[in-house]
Amino acid sequence: MHTGLSADYPCGMNSVKTAMTDSTGVIKNMNIDSRQSDMDVSNRTATILVIEDEPEIANLLATHIRNAGYLVRVMDRGLAGMTSAQNDRPDLILLDLMLPDVDGLEVCRELQREALTASIPIIMVSARGEESDIVDGLELGASDYVTKPFSSKVLLARIQNILRRSENTVPATGSGEVVSVDGIVIDNDRHEVRIDDKIIDLTLSEYEILHYLARRPSFVRTRDQIISALHGDRVVMSRRTIDVHVTALRRKLGAHGGHIETVRGVGYRLNESVSR
Ligand code: CA
Repeated sequence: MHTGLSADYPCGMNSVKTAMTDSTGVIKNMNIDSRQSDMDVSNRTATILVIEDEPEIANLLATHIRNAGYLVRVMDRGLAGMTSAQNDRPDLILLDLMLPDVDGLEVCRELQREALTASIPIIMVSARGEESDIVDGLELGASDYVTKPFSSKVLLARIQNILRRSENTVPATGSGEVVSVDGIVIDNDRHEVRIDDKIIDLTLSEYEILHYLARRPSFVRTRDQIISALHGDRVVMSRRTIDVHVTALRRKLGAHGGHIETVRGVGYRLNESVSR
């Protein structure tokens, strides 16, 4: 089979042939070569920047990512990571929260603040028991997180989800917008939700929560993010209220209710598929 790349591959050590099979179905067979990364612009391989100071974890992350067919760059300091992100614009960043020079949350904040890097999705990598850090990171604009020790399957599924979503992210505003997630059709022009062509009767808050989550499927949103998306920062609304709305929303979505996943201690996300 002609891949369009193979003819130009050197036979040297930098050419790695990978044939991964994974139950998530996300992995492609692919030839990768770190020196050939920008050859094929139209269908190029995504580059993932890993900012992680512990060599063992960095190596593990890099190996999983490389085996899945992505290109990977590793930086062991926050500042070097930020510079690399600005200069080389990776497609996604895996960011350790505990870094020796600059705190991971600070790195996240800076990357989100800089116009050059603001659109690059960030997956935080945190040790267990750092729930408040996870919440802070998501509120600073990170897309998702994995906790140590992580499974390669979870890690790659997260990466794949985020990369796919950032390719076709729905604009945040504007009318005429229709979002569809596995049979749930959200028509923001009509303010209407349909499943199998049947209109689902939702309250305004339920509708807005669903619409907010559906704009970035698989991205985790904290309760506070949901509250500000719904009402802005000036309205005081309890996090518990969000839980009540979500419970009602799930019930009304029936068999599709399982798409809204509770992320323990953190918030909610809308998954594109559910294990039934
Ligand atoms: Ca660390």
